Amino acid sequence: MIVNHLNFQDSDKDKLEEACGIFGIYAPEEEVAKLTYFGLYALQHRGQESAGIATFDSTQVHFYKDMGLVSQVFNESILNDLPGSIAVGHTRYSTTGSSHKVNAQPSVVETRLGSLAVSHNGNLVNTMHLRDELLKKNCNLVTTTDSEMIAFALAEEINAGADLLQGSIRAFHRLLGAFSLVIGTPVGLMGVRDPNGIRPLVIGTLGINPVRYVLASETCGLDIIGAKYLRDVKPGELVWITEEGLAFFQWSEKPQRKLCIFEMIYFARPDSLMHNENLYSYRLRLGQRLAEEFPANADIVLGVPDSGIPAAIGFSQASGIAYAEGLIKNRYVGRTFIQPTPAMRESGIRMKFNPLKDVLCGKRVVIVDDSIVRGTTSRKLVKALRDVGAVKVHMRVSSPPVTYPCFYGIDIGSQAQLIATAKSVEEIAVQIGVDSLAYLSWDAMLEETRKDSTNFCSACFTGNYLTPVPETAEYSKLMLEQVTTT
Ligand code: AMP
Repeated sequence: MIVNHLNFQDSDKDKLEEACGIFGIYAPEEEVAKLTYFGLYALQHRGQESAGIATFDSTQVHFYKDMGLVSQVFNESILNDLPGSIAVGHTRYSTTGSSHKVNAQPSVVETRLGSLAVSHNGNLVNTMHLRDELLKKNCNLVTTTDSEMIAFALAEEINAGADLLQGSIRAFHRLLGAFSLVIGTPVGLMGVRDPNGIRPLVIGTLGINPVRYVLASETCGLDIIGAKYLRDVKPGELVWITEEGLAFFQWSEKPQRKLCIFEMIYFARPDSLMHNENLYSYRLRLGQRLAEEFPANADIVLGVPDSGIPAAIGFSQASGIAYAEGLIKNRYVGRTFIQPTPAMRESGIRMKFNPLKDVLCGKRVVIVDDSIVRGTTSRKLVKALRDVGAVKVHMRVSSPPVTYPCFYGIDIGSQAQLIATAKSVEEIAVQIGVDSLAYLSWDAMLEETRKDSTNFCSACFTGNYLTPVPETAEYSKLMLEQVTTT
């Protein structure tokens, strides 16, 4: 059966969502599976398709994974069956590999030094090459994910005689692209970032005597279990957490800081810290700059819930235009695998957002969102606002136009699907039906990070990729192969 999850005609923005959540903990005196459950619970926004946890006790690995939200996959009794002192967890939304239980992570492999459990966030760009290499060596790949290939590459190096750390470092050198990894082993926990540090990964501490260590995609995954943020895992670094504490190895010869700017703008939770920056504050400043660069004549400012709200508040603060809640989001929607009826589909976005007539009727509205990708969400929202009587609708976007696909783990579709690739801002305004449209400037987006602009990957805005990227044809072929399941 071919499951073509890359077919986005269905125009539902949830289909685009990607960027997995990863978590790991070393804490013999704690219920590690339970803490991992809560860590994943806080990272749920990074992937809602499947969830999994693997734990290690002195003798063996235990794991459980399934399709669904963290709270749907696990219950008390499943967690009680996951004993141990080390745990790794994962929440997934697929960029590579089909939507199928077998592709849920962590990926568990056997090696001569015991089992490994690998949780991966990101996307490799040399998967075809890596897969050929692994298949030639008779690796029995059972899933369609690049994450499993990473697990097999690790196993291959270890089985060839290397120890856990040497073997892992050798395997990391074979990977190209974006990878933040949390790897459980029988004796310790590893945290790894690719040489560019594209996807985030932070270290936290838990307890005082002894101090134990936690790894999470974002600091909100630490906060929920009462762990304290220590620092980021650095680009090209391996952290090794054992009974002795924390050890660091810079495994990449050419590390550079290139965090994905889209994490800052949209993906990560606003209460997380990235580059030592609270993302709510960053997004608020983006909205303030947007109001300075592109003011609008309006009565109220709305944000597209949830990710557009901090920028909308910033826009309101800088412009003096009142902030209002005009769109109510159903926060319990989550992911549904039940397709709406055709009539429901017609009403489109209202599955998720409902406009408040009392707030909007007769008003000139500025609607602020963090990004426009294909333009589907904004077109439906604008129509919904007009349907309840908004007299003017101006749209302001707190990032520049997205014009290039991401090969590093954010699923924003192919270049042909990106509305800003072939259309000018004026043409986009017509297509989404607004009275005016403006995007935040590139300079403002970077200046407000308060970091050197070279610290970020912004390929989706510029096409300046950090690595060679697969040719479109090659990539499509790979994707089609990877979404073939039995
Ligand atoms: P679109 O409808 O394709 O223009 O998507 C833009 C909307 O989806 C905005 O409301 C964004 O907050 C949100 N968004 C941006 N990037 C993504 C993504 N990769 N996956 C899902 N939603 C996204």
